[in-house]
Amino acid sequence: QAKKAGRDTLQFFDPRMQQVVRERATLEQDLRTGLAQQQFELFFQPQVEGGSIIGAEGLLRWRHPGQGFISPANFIPLAEESGLIVPLGEWVLHTACEQLARWAHDPAMAQMVVAVNVSPRQFYQAQFVDQVLAALALSGAPPSRLKLELTEGLLLTDIDDTIEKMVQLKQHGVGFSLDDFGTGYSSLAYLKRLPLDQLKIDQSFVRDVLTDPNDAAIAKTIVALGTSLGLRVIAEGVETEAQRAFLQEHGCHAWQGYLLSPPVPMAQFEALARKWAARQIPGH
Ligand code: C2E
Ligand code: MG
Ligand code: MG
Ligand code: MG
Repeated sequence: QAKKAGRDTLQFFDPRMQQVVRERATLEQDLRTGLAQQQFELFFQPQVEGGSIIGAEGLLRWRHPGQGFISPANFIPLAEESGLIVPLGEWVLHTACEQLARWAHDPAMAQMVVAVNVSPRQFYQAQFVDQVLAALALSGAPPSRLKLELTEGLLLTDIDDTIEKMVQLKQHGVGFSLDDFGTGYSSLAYLKRLPLDQLKIDQSFVRDVLTDPNDAAIAKTIVALGTSLGLRVIAEGVETEAQRAFLQEHGCHAWQGYLLSPPVPMAQFEALARKWAARQIPGH
């Protein structure tokens, strides 16, 4: 019985609960091992503007030795809770910056911008700005080629701290995009104060943009809002030519999605970008 076992002992009476706790502990240990053994890879999904590939979003992939490929949706939350997102996020930043540095003197690739996702816990660290600047300095990557994707969740805690960090990084040329826009709780008053460069229309609004008038209205409103605030607007999750055409017609500046490519390994992204640079496709 729990009482007899004493105050300091946690007892689980539900075996399913025990199972969940055990699996989490295992996954957390696997995350540590995975980080040490370099089981993570950064994939790149091209972003298109005005008929050109202008860069890519870096998306984390984990090749788990026993379970195969694990989706970030299934390990980012645990990495956040356990704090492992800090070293993991730092690895992502370094990997993206090293790639940008390699491209810097390559005429076909030098203009590419790489967007990196940043978790709230990673961003809230006191040393976050220094970590980003260190990744840039160590690699020699041009700061203006790095873009950080933040989510609205960040805005809930300490808006002044968030703005201060963004301003510091912006002074070095780093760009900012607000990811999954429209799904969170950001107020328009905050949006006005943040030194952003881009809004990203969440894929949940893009999916049915042609069939659901509400989604179409939301997408158009985000484009109008972003544009009037002087921001670029990018749509994520574009899967069909009809979605792309609709968004373009309504003034959306850029897009990414399976229509062009899923996130792919670096070499594959580079090959695609070189091919596109060689033959510009009009109209897209
Ligand atoms: P996100 O940043 O909103 O990324 C967009 C997600 O949509 C990615 O899922 C991408 O693969 C997927 N996607 C891209 N194009 C399409 C499309 O046309 N259709 C559909 N249905 N999906 C598309 P992914 O790679 O599984 O990543 C999921 C989430 O995990 C990301 O959402 C991001 O929040 C998080 N994440 C991924 N990599 C990192 C990272 O390095 N650091 C942090 N903190 N979070 C990351
Ligand atoms: Mg993102
Ligand atoms: Mg997103
Ligand atoms: Mg999303």
